[in-house]
Amino acid sequence: MAKILILGGGFGGLIVAERLASSIDSTHDITVVAPSRKFTFYPGLVHLAFGQCSADDITFDLATKLKGVGVRYIEGEMIELDSSGKKAMIAGDDISGEIHYDFLVVAIGRRLATGRVPGFFEYSNHLLGTGAALKFGKAASNFDRGKIIVGLCPGARLPVPVCETAFALAKRFEKQIAGGEVHLSVVFPESLQSAFGGASLHKELESAFARHHINVLYDFPISEITPEHLISSQKNKIEYDLLMLVPPFRGNAQLRREGIVDAEDFVLVDDRMKISGLESSYAVGDIVAFSGPKFAHMAVRQAEVAAANLISEINSSQPETTYYHEIATVIDAGGPDSIYLHYGIWDDSMYRLKKGTLWGWAKEAHDRWWKLRNR
Ligand SMILES: Cc1cc2nc3c(=O)[nH]c(=O)nc-3n(C[C@H](O)[C@H](O)[C@H](O)COP(=O)(O)OP(=O)(O)OC[C@H]3O[C@@H](n4cnc5c(N)ncnc54)[C@H](O)[C@@H]3O)c2cc1C
Repeated sequence: MAKILILGGGFGGLIVAERLASSIDSTHDITVVAPSRKFTFYPGLVHLAFGQCSADDITFDLATKLKGVGVRYIEGEMIELDSSGKKAMIAGDDISGEIHYDFLVVAIGRRLATGRVPGFFEYSNHLLGTGAALKFGKAASNFDRGKIIVGLCPGARLPVPVCETAFALAKRFEKQIAGGEVHLSVVFPESLQSAFGGASLHKELESAFARHHINVLYDFPISEITPEHLISSQKNKIEYDLLMLVPPFRGNAQLRREGIVDAEDFVLVDDRMKISGLESSYAVGDIVAFSGPKFAHMAVRQAEVAAANLISEINSSQPETTYYHEIATVIDAGGPDSIYLHYGIWDDSMYRLKKGTLWGWAKEAHDRWWKLRNR
């Protein structure tokens, strides 16, 4: 019997748990540890902010879901990993102590490095949770004139919700923007191409922004926020009245001692999702040190690869399934400007871009499918 410990119950952790539970016999022990019982479907947070769904529509109880597939859930947080002793130190309500494992999957997502941008916490809205999305939605509802800025801080690896928020605000304030009472801008630390991992979708996205009267500002690495201004590292200033920014991301400093992380504390893995230098250990999702933006569909595909390789190891075979790093995403502009992008980050000859209302509907249908599968 193998003991499999999965740290994290987001997209990556859940998919690994489900795939293992359906493929190995029940004599093996699968445990998921995560600090919150609530699974949040993050791609739905822009809709939540704009009142198009409720918090219940985009969350579900992780413990119930896991129990249904025969996986144990423990409410707790990994505070230390000891890979040589094959154990993780957990702090939480269900357990405070060590959990031993034979196989490990690290799927703990990103952490937010809001401290790197002084003023972020005090003055900016963000969308990194249901509470934050509802707070931003309320601020947008109470807004009637002035300058709105949405954007990415340096090191924020999430361009899609920034673009989708800009399109949603353009729709909400269509009349006020036309009348000059509201000005809407979107800010990127470098180019659009670098925000999207090298994909050159700037022509299509810029023309969509222009049609919705959204100004785009590039090369503005936000380094500080005051009550009235965004300040860049070159000391340029932009005035704002309402802000929604994605903060910088970082990995997990608790893993540093193991020597398995890069300079930003993201976990180093090979193309089989095995943690470099550690036996029988995998990492998937936002915590992984791959380049470019971070997406749920990447976490899901990495989880499928890790699960396939883990199953091979459990069956004493070589783990041979490999992962390919690519973007496949929809930017929902709420109409004909919606964009589908498929781009190979490891091979830029793979590039497909399509536009049309259909892609917004496809994303909605996919979101609905995710909600239903977890009911
Ligand atoms: C507003 C928003 C919109 C987005 N839109 C899209 C989109 O349109 N398309 C798309 O593909 N992606 C989108 N994403 C990105 C996507 O949500 C992430 O890439 C995805 O959630 C990553 O999955 P994950 O499992 O790696 O991490 P998460 O989903 O963040 O899960 C991490 C899990 O680890 C747990 N955890 C954290 N620390 C510990 C610890 N120390 N010990 C144990 N457990 C721990 C957490 O509680 C959680 O259960 C969006 C994200 C946001 C925030």
